Amino acid sequence: MRRLAAGNWKMNGTGEDLEEVRSLIAAFPAPDNTDLLICPPATLLHRMAEVAAGSSVQVGGQDCHAKPAGAHTGDISADMLREAGADYVILGHSERRTDHRETDRMVRAKIMAADRALLAPILCVGETLAEREAGRTLEVVGAQLDGSLLAPLAEVRLEHVVVAYEPVWAIGTGLTPTTEQIAEVHGFIRERLVAAIPAHGARLRILYGGSVKPSNAAEIFAVPHVNGALVGGASLKAAEFGRIVEALVAA
Ligand code: PEP
Repeated sequence: MRRLAAGNWKMNGTGEDLEEVRSLIAAFPAPDNTDLLICPPATLLHRMAEVAAGSSVQVGGQDCHAKPAGAHTGDISADMLREAGADYVILGHSERRTDHRETDRMVRAKIMAADRALLAPILCVGETLAEREAGRTLEVVGAQLDGSLLAPLAEVRLEHVVVAYEPVWAIGTGLTPTTEQIAEVHGFIRERLVAAIPAHGARLRILYGGSVKPSNAAEIFAVPHVNGALVGGASLKAAEFGRIVEALVAA
């Protein structure tokens, strides 16, 4: 399967940072078996899509509303992201779950909306530190997968779904799970996907996210069922993100 290196710029980036995307495209005009994605803030999406048009880099949104239009001040629909040039949208990121109290039910509705707009959803799942320490990691991740996608199986183009395992305690903290811990959760997610989606489950991409950086990328990409990364802080500069992309291409 093609691997995916996805950058989540979160609430960072203005027009001058489009230069980073130009640099990324110049450094990786056609990376072997690897897709490149940057999810900028919504204000940059259209301009970034124009910069990236026809190149190796695709762009995506960081969230969308579940409804196609209406009185929802400050929100953006999946169709709007599509029109601005997005191919993907990150959904259920832990910062959305925390800051905006998003539930699995809401994330499911957003996945359906993304699919209707022909966007590929990147579904984020992951446990908090308290949940890991209580030995509940697989239970939590399983419930998030089921609630937002698998049980009942969402009626979407399942072959386009990407799952990102992002332990909440590893996001932006510099902490990362051991490779054994990553292997356990990615293996668990793969099993769940194969069981629920026999036609596509073995081929869906499962990304790891949480303090991925050039120094740990190769080790993480060597873990079974890690098919790429969702990268926050280290995706903002093309030079740093590029070293992660190099590790993925070499994996
Ligand atoms: C993220 O926001 O999805 C993320 C993984 O952030 P960071 O790489 O900064 O931990």
